[in-house]
Amino acid sequence: MTIQKQIVITGAGLVGSLLAIMLSKRGFKVSVYERRPDMRKERMSAGRSINLALSDRGWKAIRRVGIEEEIRKVAIPMYGRMIHDIKGDTAFYNYGEKDQAIYSVSRGGLNCVLMDLAEKHGAEIFFNERVEDIDLKNAVLTTENTSTKAKTLIQAERIFGADGGFAASRLQLQLKTDRFNYSQSYLDAGYKELTIPAADAGGFRMEKNALHIWPRGQYMLIALPNMDGSFTCTLFFPFEGVPSFASLDTKEKMLRFFNDTFPDAVSLMPDLATLYFENPTSSLVTVRCFPWAFKDKLLLIGDAAHAIVPFFGQGMNCGFEDCTVLDDLMNEEKDWNRIFSKFEHSRKPDADAIAELAVQNFIEMRDLVSKPEFILRKKIESRFHSRYPEKWLPLYSMVTFSEKSYAEALKEGKRQDCVMEKVMSIPGIETKWDSEEVEKIMLEGAERM
Ligand code: FAD
Repeated sequence: MTIQKQIVITGAGLVGSLLAIMLSKRGFKVSVYERRPDMRKERMSAGRSINLALSDRGWKAIRRVGIEEEIRKVAIPMYGRMIHDIKGDTAFYNYGEKDQAIYSVSRGGLNCVLMDLAEKHGAEIFFNERVEDIDLKNAVLTTENTSTKAKTLIQAERIFGADGGFAASRLQLQLKTDRFNYSQSYLDAGYKELTIPAADAGGFRMEKNALHIWPRGQYMLIALPNMDGSFTCTLFFPFEGVPSFASLDTKEKMLRFFNDTFPDAVSLMPDLATLYFENPTSSLVTVRCFPWAFKDKLLLIGDAAHAIVPFFGQGMNCGFEDCTVLDDLMNEEKDWNRIFSKFEHSRKPDADAIAELAVQNFIEMRDLVSKPEFILRKKIESRFHSRYPEKWLPLYSMVTFSEKSYAEALKEGKRQDCVMEKVMSIPGIETKWDSEEVEKIMLEGAERM
């Protein structure tokens, strides 16, 4: 048993590692306890291919710790959605203005760079150490080594709980404090990862600079590019019913369904049957809780405080923005009680807002993106934005390409919906979408926002 004084972070995932860099750079002695082995040595297969969309809020935090250039080299810009219809025909739609993009980055690759940098700045990361218990009042952690089963007691000055959606640190607040609010809600759909390998001669088998979507109403397949020419595909699909993960239970049924539903994707996935039956089916959860802090001893951050579903590509970006906000608060305040309290009160409305937006965006991605009314609405908004940029920023851009708080984005998005409902109900809007009549309604609507 060892006893030391320090700042402790639970979890060396994306947020824990980034936070370790920020705190170490400020001169704190930081120790991180991570349940998994060191992925830089073990090179887990999952660490290689799974990718995430990084956008402006994430880049801001990355810039702050000085690794923007390094990450840019391994980030693939995706300038828009490539929609694949049931016949295999495709159509491309920009996400924002021409040069605006979200970036596909390898989750494992990014995590490794962040851990390297955290260690370079003096943080120590202890792997195979699962956080088991926290004495909240005294900030003492108990970890168990996953191989030797040896227990260690760690005396911290304060603890940051960055151990993800199923955080042990959060459970401690739930079990040991009064009036801790907690809810988890699962979608009826889950997900499975599949792969489109690189072409035989190397290179990409589909457009590289796009996020590919096969929207099919109640479900969808998406694909993001990797640096090696492959694409990581994710099937978001109901657990039960027809069709569902439960109903596609033989190779024949699954292949028939894929051939009928995603014909152009199947032709690019030689290992489809193996991957479909070998890869796990995972669930999609939203976790809301509050408070996030226990006095000045423990603060939840990242998914530990607010796990969301992935349809706005914002979970990591939101967790990285948490780190930026905390870093700003540490500049303003010296008292940790105030830092923790200001943090949880300023971030909670934003976490709730992005959780709501993320669930909404599932419907948009799996269904609406292929509908002519949706495409027309986007065209009208985009035209109005380019004429009056200070009056109208489309919701996707507010969330992805701006620093506007998620809570404000949600509120403004709802107001925009009201205006657009009026616009879309104009008889013959298909032919009048760029008319003065439309512009007048939007200008009036924008004035009232
Ligand atoms: P995690 O990344 O989960 O890290 C938590 C760490 O804590 C892990 O290393 C874990 O091993 C460790 N840990 C857990 N329990 C313990 C314990 N008891 N003791 C010690 N260590 C422990 N976000 C985006 O911004 N863009 C995207 O495109 C995107 N796509 C996604 C796609 C999918 C399918 C999913 C599921 C999520 C996606 N996300 C995306 C969300 C993103 O993955 C998370 O928001 C992000 O990983 C949160 O980082 P974190 O560090 O808080 O948690």
